[in-house]
Amino acid sequence: MTVTEKKMVAQIQSLKKERRAIILAHNYQVGEIQDVADFVGDSLELCQKAAQIDADVIVFCGVLFMAETAAVLCPNQVVLMPDLSAGCGMSEMISVDDLIRMKQAHPNAVVVCYVNSSAAVKAESDVCCTSSNAKKIVESIPKDREIIFIPDQYLGAHVMRQTGRKMILYNGYCPTHVRMMAGELAEVIVKHPSATVLAHPECPQPISASADYVLSTSGIALQSKKTSAQKVIVATEIGMLHRLSKENPDKEFIPACSYCDCAHMKVNDLEKLLWSLEEMQYPITVSASVAARAKEAIDRMLSVSEVVQC
Ligand code: SF4
Repeated sequence: MTVTEKKMVAQIQSLKKERRAIILAHNYQVGEIQDVADFVGDSLELCQKAAQIDADVIVFCGVLFMAETAAVLCPNQVVLMPDLSAGCGMSEMISVDDLIRMKQAHPNAVVVCYVNSSAAVKAESDVCCTSSNAKKIVESIPKDREIIFIPDQYLGAHVMRQTGRKMILYNGYCPTHVRMMAGELAEVIVKHPSATVLAHPECPQPISASADYVLSTSGIALQSKKTSAQKVIVATEIGMLHRLSKENPDKEFIPACSYCDCAHMKVNDLEKLLWSLEEMQYPITVSASVAARAKEAIDRMLSVSEVVQC
């Protein structure tokens, strides 16, 4: 870390105290943001942390849908994002109108909405899910009900394989995970034959099929600790490797795709984080009516998943 970066970290720590703020960083953030954060995790873990912690301000270093979820779950705290351009390619693929059209075509279907979606889309959905609890959420729906699964077709297809349930899938995808190539992964596996392979369910099916485990980012973190393998091939956004290497210094983590990084996740840096705390920018708000309906879909998820309700 340079002298300037050290100074910025010291200023961030001091402003954090002054503002009674906490910094939450997603697993895909750049290393220096992860290192200065109070908590690093997946989107729901971070929102739950936010709701449990006595703070006035939450600086969310992730993408917009995550900050919106924090605003929905923590209405009494100020939620800030250091850079408003941090959107999410997947969540932007589906609009409320797209979902309404699907609901009109399948009026009796239950809508399961991956949390990687806007608050407005969540508000039009029946129940949310994360990549770690999607199977459980789908299994909780009566077998005679049709299911619309939005927006990630690859997570949806993975859950269909896990549960044997047919679902109506929206054709969204993560522009980062879709770049994973089965041929490249095969070459990495040949180079590291003793490695265990962990893949995120947003990856296309040929990648999931080559993996020993298909897991959420929190699942990848847990399995990386548990495995006796000394080498782990990781098929997800490359920011994840910073946390894995830090938590498991005795193991080697090899990216399945070294260029698969999410441009949205990477817009944050220390300078923007410091500025965010100095200027209290940019506040994220969700209208009360949308927040109330989005929270219902999130609460339904929490009532059937193992995730502790905040
Ligand atoms: S990695 Fe994919 S799903 Fe995650 S924020 Fe980036 S574009 Fe969205």
